[in-house]
Amino acid sequence: MLTHKNLVMTDALYDYLRRVSLRESAVAEQLRTATAALPNARMQVPPEQGQFLALLVRLMGARRCLEIGTFTGYSALAVASALPPDGVLVACDVSEEWTAIARQFWAAAGVADRIALRLGPARETLAALIAAGEAGSYDFAFIDADKPNYDAYYEAVLTLLRPGGLIVFDNMFLGGRVLDPDDTSESVRAIRALNEKLHHDERVFIAMLPLADGVTLALKQA
Ligand code: CA
Repeated sequence: MLTHKNLVMTDALYDYLRRVSLRESAVAEQLRTATAALPNARMQVPPEQGQFLALLVRLMGARRCLEIGTFTGYSALAVASALPPDGVLVACDVSEEWTAIARQFWAAAGVADRIALRLGPARETLAALIAAGEAGSYDFAFIDADKPNYDAYYEAVLTLLRPGGLIVFDNMFLGGRVLDPDDTSESVRAIRALNEKLHHDERVFIAMLPLADGVTLALKQA
């Protein structure tokens, strides 16, 4: 058995992490606070994860991005803020209600013109992008939506990415439920199967990070 060398994240250490590294715009902080009051607040990515996505987008010099699962728009705000002025983020979600909040904060942050919100089932939106000839044209994608469809999102997004493009998957630990043999829910089975598939999928280079609820990076092979 491998011994892990990660520190156990205590509240004090997590507080320290945020205190010495978090850079969050005023609008992002307002959006996070507004979302925290909602019943589905835990669907929001933590701010250090938004900052990490923004760093990846800058690192890659990404111009064309995809997001599957937008909710109230925190991660989209982080990604769009890291794009050049002519960059675009296609943000997919099914909820008019949650994304109405998102749009309000994207406008306040001055990035609304970089975000193309596509309301509707993301599988259909991604299929439409492929049908429109956009395969191979995206640099970066964040997948953070309904878990049973993750594998379908992965396959469609992999088609839409250019070689060297990056996919970031959220919630690959599912709160630790992936380890519970008694948990055979559809979401858990889907994430377990995808983790096992990604482990040996030669179309991508991968790294799985114990960040937030488990984040897997998958870089499309050239
Ligand atoms: Ca998530």
